[in-house]
Amino acid sequence: MPAANFACTTAVTCRCRAYSETSQTLVFFSRDFGRISGLAKGVMRPGNSFGGPFDTLMEYEITFVRKSSSSLHVITDGELVRPFKGLRGRFDGYIASNFLLEVVTALSEDEEPDTELYDLFTSALEAIDRGGNGGPISLGFALKALELAGLGLRLDACALCGKSSFGKQVQFRPSDGGVVCDVCSLTGDGGKQPDARGTFNVYPGDLRVLSALASSDIKRLSKINPGRDVMKRTIKIVRHALRFLLEKPLIMLEYLS
Ligand SMILES: [Zn+2]
Repeated sequence: MPAANFACTTAVTCRCRAYSETSQTLVFFSRDFGRISGLAKGVMRPGNSFGGPFDTLMEYEITFVRKSSSSLHVITDGELVRPFKGLRGRFDGYIASNFLLEVVTALSEDEEPDTELYDLFTSALEAIDRGGNGGPISLGFALKALELAGLGLRLDACALCGKSSFGKQVQFRPSDGGVVCDVCSLTGDGGKQPDARGTFNVYPGDLRVLSALASSDIKRLSKINPGRDVMKRTIKIVRHALRFLLEKPLIMLEYLS
């Protein structure tokens, strides 16, 4: 009989579901294996070796038996590393952390490691856990995650010609990689509504805020407080970009403020 193929990694729980009265099926975003799914047998049985069931958005050191014939691995151990307790019991913490999870789910692949995205994700969770403002952390995280995925947006200059001085408003077009100056833009309706290429008008000042969020260290994002109106507009820009680039709406961003 061949030896079991054990593997070990740190991982954040993305989804936990009861499989039976005593077991859970789990989806993790792991540092070394990307997104993985597993079955934890007996995890809800009293006195089990796990020390209790898994909970979502917590970081564990997990051990699992890799199955070559199935994408559902067998989880044999899970030691809690970071519980991120500060995400719970706080509306903006709950919304922001679940938004981060939506972005990670959209940008990660099964069994494809992405250590940079993992480290960015856990740093952002930790920043929110420590009481950081969920809005700026979420937007900064999303822009950085897009950059890591090769979908980074040009926010400080025209994505097509590099021109960096704009009028009162400028066109934002995710299909062309970010901001597009009035010379390069050729939309039919002047950008009043998003067109087929996702164009709409934005204020250059809002783009400067987004540039600052995209380039700041994740621990410092919470210190960027652009005010309620700018925050609303920048959330709209990021929501629009994500919907266009990921080809699906992210639900939690609707509730972010
Ligand atoms: Zn241009």
